Amino acid sequence: MAEFPLEELRFAARYPFSNTAKRIVKSINPRIDDLLEKRFSIVELAKRNLTAVLKRKPYPTNSDVASAEILESHILAFPLAKIMVSFLDNPKYYDYFAKAVRDSAFAMLQNAGDFESELINLANDLKLNFEISNGTFKLGIVEFLSVPFKSDVLKLANQDVASGYVLLNKHRFASFLAEKAAYSVLISLPADVAELPKQFKDLAFEALNESTAQLRRSISGKANLSYLPPCIETIYADLLAGKNIPHMARFVLATFLNAINTPEEKIVEAFSRAPNYNEKVTRYQVSRIVHGSAGKIYKPASCNKMRSYGLCVAECRVKHPLQYYRKQLAKRKQPRTKKSGEKNE
Ligand code: SF4
Repeated sequence: MAEFPLEELRFAARYPFSNTAKRIVKSINPRIDDLLEKRFSIVELAKRNLTAVLKRKPYPTNSDVASAEILESHILAFPLAKIMVSFLDNPKYYDYFAKAVRDSAFAMLQNAGDFESELINLANDLKLNFEISNGTFKLGIVEFLSVPFKSDVLKLANQDVASGYVLLNKHRFASFLAEKAAYSVLISLPADVAELPKQFKDLAFEALNESTAQLRRSISGKANLSYLPPCIETIYADLLAGKNIPHMARFVLATFLNAINTPEEKIVEAFSRAPNYNEKVTRYQVSRIVHGSAGKIYKPASCNKMRSYGLCVAECRVKHPLQYYRKQLAKRKQPRTKKSGEKNE
């Protein structure tokens, strides 16, 4: 295996999407089976990184080590994390991944000891055509517009433009590079995983479950979400996994969560994972369920109604999903009181 200068490895570990990192991965040329069998720690690292991405955190990097082996692990973990996220087969998670890369790249650039040199190194690595003069970076308009920006700060209308060039200070140039990195990652997803071992898929879904476990805990409030009936659990798990669930299922879930005393704010938070989440609309709808509307009280659906909606998924021998929840609570010898149990049926 080729040996790489430590500084090069560190750069690639800081920017695992970079061409330097890709060259190193190509040179190491790991066999997938080896990674899964002998170098399981890299696969675990990739899973851990994906979990962070799914929690909407920056893509984790670690370049402050002197061990070439550790740095290589971080570099190799990146394409593995991309493989895993591809197995989730959901554009929403590709977007999370790209944004995590953007946030991580921006933080790395900002925290570099020599900010300007770091910007130049990454820009050169990304084969960007730019000039620099007195701390101002000059980019051709076409080059600048090759990256679609979501934030206003990088819209062309908000830039200094002169003689066909966009003039960016260091911080804006850092934002541009981070967005460029994110875009390059986004358009590279999903990776072609058709021929790859299913273990990656299992690991990807483990990462997804781990990423939502904390959210589940934070959402629950006084309710105990470990005892949800199968029908509600199915809807809830789909929602946390970012699936687009039908309107009726959303309504059923919101009324149920309200009935078991989940705080209004937490119900809104649960829906924030939905792919087409609109906070204003969600708050309005959840508020109507929690506080009623025009004298109407919204109660959770009975099992008969759930069957008619096609949302019953098991035979629980109860007449109402709340009954199932109550029974589970009782089994765990938890006091069933109006305070800790439920509201209306
Ligand atoms: S039987 Fe009732 S509680 Fe059980 S899954 Fe069906 S609707 Fe839900």
